[in-house]
Amino acid sequence: MFKKNLTQQILTAMLLGGVVGGILNFWVEIAAIQWLVNNVFQVIGQIFVRLLNMLVVPLVFVSLVGGVVALGDVGKLGRLGGKTLLFFLATTMAAIALALIMATIVAPGQGYHLETHPTYSANTPPSIAQTIIELVPNNPIQAMAQGQMLPLIIFSLLFGIAVLMAQNSGQQRVKQLFDDLNEINLQIVIIVMKFAPLGVFCLISKTFAVEGFGAIKPLLDYFLVVVVTLFIQAFIIYPLLIKWLSGLDVGIFLKKMRRVQIFAFSTASSNATIPVNIENTEKHLGVDNSIASFIIPLGATINMDGTAIMQGVATLFIANVYSIHLTNGDYAMVIVTATLASIGTAGVPGVGLIMLAMVLNQVGLPVEGIALIMGVDRLLDMMRTAVNITGDAVAAVIMAKSEGALDHQIYLANNNE
Ligand code: ASP
Repeated sequence: MFKKNLTQQILTAMLLGGVVGGILNFWVEIAAIQWLVNNVFQVIGQIFVRLLNMLVVPLVFVSLVGGVVALGDVGKLGRLGGKTLLFFLATTMAAIALALIMATIVAPGQGYHLETHPTYSANTPPSIAQTIIELVPNNPIQAMAQGQMLPLIIFSLLFGIAVLMAQNSGQQRVKQLFDDLNEINLQIVIIVMKFAPLGVFCLISKTFAVEGFGAIKPLLDYFLVVVVTLFIQAFIIYPLLIKWLSGLDVGIFLKKMRRVQIFAFSTASSNATIPVNIENTEKHLGVDNSIASFIIPLGATINMDGTAIMQGVATLFIANVYSIHLTNGDYAMVIVTATLASIGTAGVPGVGLIMLAMVLNQVGLPVEGIALIMGVDRLLDMMRTAVNITGDAVAAVIMAKSEGALDHQIYLANNNE
């Protein structure tokens, strides 16, 4: 195992973790096994997640400011921002449409027996007005301390724009400083990555030991429709987009994304995956820092195609279970609200399910339906997070190519250590 490169080690660790966790699940009642899971796997796994999370705020700030300054002018930033938002919206809406088509064909949940009526209390989502107000931080340090991504992104963008506008010699010094800091941050990512095989192993074994597969059986059709649609998105739709819009070799992209996808899968958090995703898009996919540093954090916060797919399928599943007929208008409403819900979903574990309440409310479905699918959500969360962050890297590669900011030599190089 030690002779293999890091990606292979991480892959092996993930598979091994799945097997060990799956076996431990049979004896999870035994005290010694519980001790092992809670005091060894949990501790090491959580330290690993914290090491990743620890890097998010400094990395996003430094890399975003550096990226904006490297773009060189505000007009370019506006154009890139516009194109990126449009791309995010279009791919998310298409992902939900695909999910709805798949769920209509398979009709998961039909004939499902509701033995007891589940209870689920949904939090009231904040109003749209409040959400917009809170995009702007009152205090950037507080936004950083609380890891509020969108306010942090807004502050960093403004900071970068201000550096661009400062027409004095200080501009070069600040640019140099941020470039140097960015390299140092990425170096920390590389150090943390050395710990990844162990971290991934512990996270996956803990999850599989606790979750098991028993919960999937009664929900098999729902589970499979989500999984198959996620696979179509990741392995058919994204590669086609890359081929059509940038003409790049798709096989290389998929191979180089594997490691980042495993990080997302084992942490179930787009946020925690930001550092690894930035490092990979810059150093292995050849995307210029000015683009990667902007698109990856923004995407991790607002672009969630995998989450949207789950929400689309879940809505139809719940409608089927409660035998509620949805009209074409309802379908259109699901596409719009699930897009908004996925934008509003934070890149941390499990939030996509909470935001599903918004979609259900909008089309008049019972929010308690969420309780039905909670049991299998962790596994689906892991998979949809891997799709979420792949969508961000796809956008970064396509935008970089269209802006002439993709280094082909790096993209083609066999350097995915
Ligand atoms: N865990 C997902 C993410 O971080 C969000 C979700 O769907 O719950 O991307």
